[in-house]
Order: sequence, then C-alpha cells, then structure tokens
Amino acid sequence: MIRLSGTKHLLGHRLWIKDFPKPTKQIEVSYLIVGGGISGLSAARQFHKKGISDFLMVELENHLGGNSSNGENKYSKYPLGAHYLPLPNFQDKELLRFLEEEKIILSYDSKGFPVFDELQLTFAPDERLFYKNNWQEGVVPKEGNSVADDLEFDKFFKQMDIFRTGKGKDQKYLFDIPLYLSSSDEKTRALDKITMKKWFQENHFTSEPLYNYIDYCCKDDFGLGIEYVSAWAGIHYFAGRKQDCTPEKHDSVLTWAEGNSRLANHLKKYTKDKTLKNHLVYEVKIENNKVIAKAFDDVNKSSVEIIADKVIMASPQFVNQYLMENRKEFTKDFHYTPWLLATLTVNDLFDNFSFPLSWDNVIYDAKGLGYVYDQHQTVNQVQDKKVITYYYSFSSADLKKTRKELYKKDKEYWKQFVLNDLKVAHPDIEEYTEDIEVFLLGHGMISPVPGFIFGEAKQQAKQNIQNKIYFAHSDLSGISIFEEAFHQGINVVNEIVDGTTLDS
Ligand SMILES: Cc1cc2nc3c(=O)[nH]c(=O)nc-3n(C[C@H](O)[C@H](O)[C@H](O)COP(=O)(O)OP(=O)(O)OC[C@H]3O[C@@H](n4cnc5c(N)ncnc54)[C@H](O)[C@@H]3O)c2cc1C
Repeated sequence: MIRLSGTKHLLGHRLWIKDFPKPTKQIEVSYLIVGGGISGLSAARQFHKKGISDFLMVELENHLGGNSSNGENKYSKYPLGAHYLPLPNFQDKELLRFLEEEKIILSYDSKGFPVFDELQLTFAPDERLFYKNNWQEGVVPKEGNSVADDLEFDKFFKQMDIFRTGKGKDQKYLFDIPLYLSSSDEKTRALDKITMKKWFQENHFTSEPLYNYIDYCCKDDFGLGIEYVSAWAGIHYFAGRKQDCTPEKHDSVLTWAEGNSRLANHLKKYTKDKTLKNHLVYEVKIENNKVIAKAFDDVNKSSVEIIADKVIMASPQFVNQYLMENRKEFTKDFHYTPWLLATLTVNDLFDNFSFPLSWDNVIYDAKGLGYVYDQHQTVNQVQDKKVITYYYSFSSADLKKTRKELYKKDKEYWKQFVLNDLKVAHPDIEEYTEDIEVFLLGHGMISPVPGFIFGEAKQQAKQNIQNKIYFAHSDLSGISIFEEAFHQGINVVNEIVDGTTLDS
C-alpha cells in the first residue's frame, strides 16, 4: 500500500487569492501566537514562565509541532520532519533547563556535567554507511579510502576543530548556537559570501569521499548541498556544536521513535485550552492601537477575527508576506528547500550485513540521505516488522521550480523514486516492502544560500512593527534546527515583556 500526504499546501495557497468568508466571530486576547511549531510553542512556554496566561495560539494544521510532528502506524511512531537533537552546548543554559524540566537531563554529576537519560540517547549501533558495497560503522567514509583521502579527512577535521574552539576579538565563538551569539569577526563572516564548494576548492581539497561527506552534512542540516549552501553555514554544521556537554559522549544525539515531535509534545502543555487548530491566519494588521488578525476555520468553513494587544508571528516569512503589507520585497531572499520523507514498513531484511542495522543508515551513492530506523530506541529489539523513514532533500539552484514539479508527480512516481534509491544498498527492498507513506514538505526548511545569514533581508524581516507585531521563526535565524526555533520563541517573549533586544 502507498499513501501520499504532506503539509496543507492547498489551504496555504488560498492565501494568494484570499477567497475567505467574512468573520462571523470575534475573540479578544492580550497576545496571539500565529503558528504552533517549535518557535511558537517555545514562546508559549516563555509566556508561562513570565506568569502570562492570556494568550492564544492559532495553527493551520490539525496538530501542533510544525516541522517537528510525527505519524504512527501499527508498528511504530515515526517522524514527519525533525528526528533528533544533538547534545546541547554547555553554555546553552536555557536549553539545559528545558531538558531538565522534561527529565531528559536527570541530574548533574560532581563536575557539573548533565546526566542524560540513557534511554533518550541513541543506543549503539547509532550510525552506519553503505560505502564501496559494504556497511561500515559511522557516516564518515573510511574503509576503502585511499591514503590521500584519509589525509584530507584529517586535515578537514583539524580545521573544523579550530573553527569550533576559535573566538573573535569580541571573545565570542566564531560559530555558535543560537547563531546570533556568534562573533562578528569580519573574516569569518565573509565565509557567508561564498559557497561551501568554493571554500572546499580554495582550501585545496580534492577528495571525492570528503566532498560527498560534506555534501551529505550540508543537506542534512540545510536541505541544500555543498554546491549551493553558504560556507559559513556549512562550517557551522561542524563548528557550532561545542561537544562540551559531557566528557564521554562527544557527539551523541537525543532521539525518539517520533523524532522531535517528542519535544513538541513536551511544549504543548503550555498551550492547553489556548489553541485554535485547523485555522489559517490570512490577514494581520494594526488598527486603533490593536492588532486585528483574521483566521479561516477549515473545519467549519467560517472566519474569525482575533483582536490582540500584540502578536507573535511564529509562521515562516513565505507565509507572512501574504498576511501583511510591504514584506514581499525582502521575502524574495528567503529560500526554502522542499523535502520528501517516506516511511516504509518492511519485513526483516537488514540484519545480515557487514555492520548491523543502526539508528541512522546512510547510503554513499544514493540521491537521498538514507534512512532512520524508527524502532531503534525501543527496548524490545525483536520486531515483527521494521519501520524506517527515508529522507530526501530537493537541493537545487532553482528551488521554486523544483517545488512546482514536486506536486505534479503522483504517488506511484515517488514510490518508485524512493525504492530505486534504497536499492543501492538493498537491491530486493521492493519485495520486502509492505507499506509506504510518502510525505511532502513543499517549503521544508530555510536554506542559507550565500549572503543570507548576515544579509539585509533577514534583518528587515526580524524588525517588530510598531511594537505590536513581532516575529519568531527558525527562518529568521537562517538555519533550521531545534535550538534556533527554541531560542526564537524565548527571545521574542523577552523582547515583548522586558524590552530586551539582541544583537544579530
Ligand atoms: C525534513 C526536515 C527534517 C528536519 N530535521 C531536523 C532534525 O533532525 N533536528 C532539528 O533540530 N531540526 C530539524 N529540522 C528543522 C525544523 O524545521 C526545526 O527543528 C523546527 O521544528 C522549526 O520550528 P519553527 O517553529 O521555526 O517552524 P515550523 O515548524 O515551520 O512551524 C511553523 C508553524 O506555523 C504554522 N503556520 C504557517 N502558516 C500559518 C498560518 N497562516 N496560520 C496558522 N498557522 C500557520 C505551520 O503549520 C507550522 O506549524 C528539520 C526540518 C525538516 C523540514
């Protein structure tokens, strides 16, 4: 069986023509949050922490979580977007506090390091790579490399270590998370002007396995490959995470069958009885010192007017440009890479290879990023059927065109596309597949093309409007990861309540 689903792009497209009925209902509230992804949910948590409860969240989907949502079948939960959180940086106290609140951090040891719940850290074996016809441990190509390749890998990782620990004259890390904490060092920021591929060439790297590995990493975090992504962003992937949160587990990650939907679920409690789901906000404007937002109720096919003192737009900029005036000019510089996810239920076929089925399974010569084994974190390791989620990002120079083509293809096309790609490592996968759910994300994630992270467009999009309409979404950071969305939510509430503004 094959099913094709995705985010509600058809409803979203009605923003172009705005053929919505006139509002028949009014709601008054102090604060309105538009969008129930991690940024919006994190804002709700921060309101709660400030003792503010008079807020409402409006979300167009029938569930909260945005890109950190999940699906579930008979055998397992599975991610419909984000699937892991790397261990946080030690100085990210807000994030540590959240993980502590949710019992992901259980305590702190005698040296002050957090003790993570073992069941929420990836179990071994956590990563494998199909390279030169063999599964090998880890995702870095090793067995079968030439000596010259190995030397280049060494040189590359040493350079990344220097970037990871390096600080600018302002005593800030050159690359940090959240991104706005990074140094304003000009030489480092100039890396945002070139592509990662150019940086690779300028630094005299030539190794093909190294090129492929960096390409994979860029796609993993940004959707865009080495050819298109900013070098600053590409290096940030390796250097932003300080690996200093625990002495032993340098690069562990936190993960769950349902992916980061687990984290969204923790945050949802702050929005209990304060949420309108299935509501698409289609207009936001300031009138008589109030913000008036109009939303279309997709279930009852009616509209509602929400009158608020202040509004947080936790929705992406490609949407915001249709809700408010004068935003199209800078929004054109925001580029979003589409993604395809496919969850397959398969009979047990993976266990007889050179390295066992792992949480993350990357295929060197494939088009996609490989697949995650969704039941990996379950304590019961004997599974009747296995559930895996395949990831593919549509990295290209013309993302708009790619997006259009995405929706023209039918489910049979995508099924074959996914199976063919997996066949590189699993030639007989088609025979063993019982069910496929293909999930399309037309605007998957913000992609940091050269010039975007430190460019004008992002700066303009972040400015609040008359201290009434505020903005918080991971696209305003320039890279789409949990930590950025989480801090966007916290910072926007601090700005509203305490007037705190942050440097970029
Ligand atoms: C395929 C994929 C894999 C990813 N993997 C990871 C990962 O493993 N780890 C990681 O840290 N990050 C990952 N990410 C990044 C992920 O996007 C962020 O971690 C985070 O979930 C973004 O949250 P957000 O709130 O900023 O944005 P979004 O998730 O985009 O939330 C915005 C919300 O606003 C709603 N909305 C939009 N318009 C309207 C409107 N007009 N009215 C009402 N509601 C509206 C949307 O439906 C959505 O719920 C991944 C992203 C994708 C696409």
